[in-house]
Amino acid sequence: MHDKTLTELAAGLRAKEFSSVELTRYFLDRIARYDGQINSFITVCADYALQQAQAADQALANGDAVSLTGIPLAQKDIFCTDGIRTSCGSRMLDNFIAPYDAGVVERCSGAGMVMLGKTNMDEFAMGSSNETSYYGPVHNPWDREAVPGGSSGGSAAAVAARLTPVATATDTGGSIRQPASLCGITGLKPTYGRVSRFGMIAFASSLDQGGVMARSAEDAALLLNVIAGFDERDSTSAEQTVPDYGATLDETLAGLKIGLPEEYFSDGLDTEVARIIDAAVDEYRKLGAEVKAISLPNTGLAVPTYYVIAPAECSSNLSRFDGVRFGYRCENAVDLEDLYKRSRGEGFGAEVKRRIMIGTYALSAGYYDAYYLKAQQLRHLISDDFAKAFEEVDVIMGPTSPTVAFNLGEKSSDPVSMYLSDIYTIAVNLAGLPGLSIPAGFVGSRPVGLQIIGNYFNEARLLNVAHRFQQVTDWHLRAPQPFAD
Ligand code: GLN
Repeated sequence: MHDKTLTELAAGLRAKEFSSVELTRYFLDRIARYDGQINSFITVCADYALQQAQAADQALANGDAVSLTGIPLAQKDIFCTDGIRTSCGSRMLDNFIAPYDAGVVERCSGAGMVMLGKTNMDEFAMGSSNETSYYGPVHNPWDREAVPGGSSGGSAAAVAARLTPVATATDTGGSIRQPASLCGITGLKPTYGRVSRFGMIAFASSLDQGGVMARSAEDAALLLNVIAGFDERDSTSAEQTVPDYGATLDETLAGLKIGLPEEYFSDGLDTEVARIIDAAVDEYRKLGAEVKAISLPNTGLAVPTYYVIAPAECSSNLSRFDGVRFGYRCENAVDLEDLYKRSRGEGFGAEVKRRIMIGTYALSAGYYDAYYLKAQQLRHLISDDFAKAFEEVDVIMGPTSPTVAFNLGEKSSDPVSMYLSDIYTIAVNLAGLPGLSIPAGFVGSRPVGLQIIGNYFNEARLLNVAHRFQQVTDWHLRAPQPFAD
């Protein structure tokens, strides 16, 4: 059952081979049996899920079902859910119950999907290893000594371990693609504005984007069909029509122009990872694609640019957590200042505090021009690199991450080396482009992801390019052993 695709699950529900309640129980049982080993969920909402499943069964019986009605999913715990805790991986929101659903959650429920629970994540989505979560780290299902990547490590691990068919996630600097790569699954970060940010707890608003995690590009396309689209409650939401992402998956790749940026294959890239990416690119040659070398000359500026812009925006966004309006409040405050200081001091973890301090500094009078303004200028140069590249090629390919999953604890005391694990993903967020990671091989037991970057609103082409690869390879079908049965 847990290896069925979304299309197979939808067909099984319609043919009455199983009901949505049975399917939901099946995945809830798997979570109960296995999640103790990987810690991928912060909250499991069994009663809520079974109620949604009953309603879905009713809709199926009445002929009111749409394509994914009755299919379970997991939501990253950054998306607000009405009546169910939304912690964002933080002690600050450990007691927070939102009074409304995020746009993404509303669309999933509106399509009759069943929410199994809320997945673990780095605190406020700040991290690349899931080790900054207040709820403890997630373990990589392929090797429990290894990190799953972050910040959407819970969603990635839950999909990889077959605890849910699909999951939502968010990506500010790589948090969908990097954990997808490290956990051997398919993850798509859409174009900025493609998916509503309404009710998605803000980290860095000009970079944050919701997206999907699945085992295959086909499943990712079907979930993207549900969550993509304009939302007037998000002022940066794009008023663009949403194509049927499932309709063009099989299109030929003959004549597809692939660019390989020389900067993505230089120092710092693990040689085994490089070999696997080369082999994946060869598969594309066999599928009829033309491959050419390109340059994205400002790639080296992406990480430093991001680590000014993202902390600056986070320091502003997180100022709302003051111990007064929502979330954690310290005990026995002596006055208002003490309340602010201790609530924030006790409610936030170390990485979040580091970002708030960097951001506050970068935005302060006298430093704004030197840091924030400069970073905005560099952001333009980085976007221009991509614009020039897309005059010559249709998609850009390279590794998602310079290494396979590292060990738990290996980088937690060295923030700069942690930040560098997003070196190939961050520029895509700065430019607002769509990007995807698909499984392309293994180094030992640890998966390697191929990153595919497209032009604005070209998600359909990315999914098509990924799908054709998955028809001639089986990396995406492999399951981590302890969770295979
Ligand atoms: N790892 C990056 C960071 O810590 C990106 C996180 C993300 O995409 N949410 O900021």
